[in-house]
Amino acid sequence: MSALLELVRADLRGFGGYRSARSEALRGEVWLNANESAWGNPADADGGCRRYPEPQPAALRAALAALYGCAPERLLIGRGSDEAIDLLVRALCEPGRDAVLVAPPVFGMYAVSARLQGARLLEVPLLEVPSREDAGAGATTFAPDFAAIAATALAQSVKLVFLCSPGNPTGEALAHADIEALARRLSGRALLVVDEAYGEFCETPSALALQARCDNLVVLRTLSKAHALAAARVGCAIADPALIAVLRACQAPYPVPAPCADLALAGLAPAALADAARRVAAVRAERQRLRAALAGLPAVTRVYPSQGNFLLARFADAESAFAALLEAGVVVRDQRAAPQLGDALRITVGTREQNDRVLAALAAMPVAQARARA
Ligand SMILES: *Cc1c(COP(=O)(O)O)cnc(C)c1O
Repeated sequence: MSALLELVRADLRGFGGYRSARSEALRGEVWLNANESAWGNPADADGGCRRYPEPQPAALRAALAALYGCAPERLLIGRGSDEAIDLLVRALCEPGRDAVLVAPPVFGMYAVSARLQGARLLEVPLLEVPSREDAGAGATTFAPDFAAIAATALAQSVKLVFLCSPGNPTGEALAHADIEALARRLSGRALLVVDEAYGEFCETPSALALQARCDNLVVLRTLSKAHALAAARVGCAIADPALIAVLRACQAPYPVPAPCADLALAGLAPAALADAARRVAAVRAERQRLRAALAGLPAVTRVYPSQGNFLLARFADAESAFAALLEAGVVVRDQRAAPQLGDALRITVGTREQNDRVLAALAAMPVAQARARA
């Protein structure tokens, strides 16, 4: 067994999962092996939903592999990357014994999956460091404490280290050299999972290229953000084929509904990809404009650089800012419960008009509130 598969839960080694009717490689013209209806539902125009879907739709898998530049057998399609996170935790962490390491403030699903699995959660907080992008301006950004992450992971029974690049909600991108060095230190002990949910908005290329040298590196991608298909629930884990086979065995029998697979495939056609590229360019331009404008408002004390489709900002009075935005009909993400972010809101970059509405609402805040603690 490869060193990589030794990281899988001992009780799951050799586990084949459910063998669905769809997974048998049989040939025939009349399919009477899965207790499906012989007649279609009137709501289903071509009757395509009468039969169970392919567990991993081959055409979609090929299209995703082409999009990300990997071999199809390295890719598992899930119900969003959320499912991939959950499968990784379930397949690797023995309840009550193994641990998951995260670097907060960060996306909450890693901790949720750890909790559901009964895995311990270890936290190594992000550091606030001078920003290279805005050097000299006294600006800061967030960065993982790589030395502390490695030391903690190796000292404890950590099976998974989750890093998010660009970070949600903090917006920073990780350098390939740092990812590779950490993956190497964790080799044989833990998987390093790099969640690239916002990779399309980022200037740094995907960490996928590092997989040729680091077999314990897993990359997560999704169609939910830049590809505008959040409701279709299509995301994926990209990793060593043997690990992908283990995750597949732990997954539900038919995880990708046929209408979602069809929609996702259409959403990856050349014209749709060109449209996605135009949207990404628009988001990047608006991100820059919105950041500069927010930084000029009295209510805002700091706006972090961001490689995602959102901005993290600190406010003199975040509660009043949140309320002023709501009053104007604008809902943003309140980050005040997150560690280190007691005065922060996360604002998704919208259309120019939507962003102008954010700016107008914040600019109109009474000076006393805008400067409450300034
Ligand atoms: C939005 C988001 C996801 C979830 O993506 P789905 O594919 O929709 O499940 C995963 N990771 C991060 C960091 C996100 O922000």
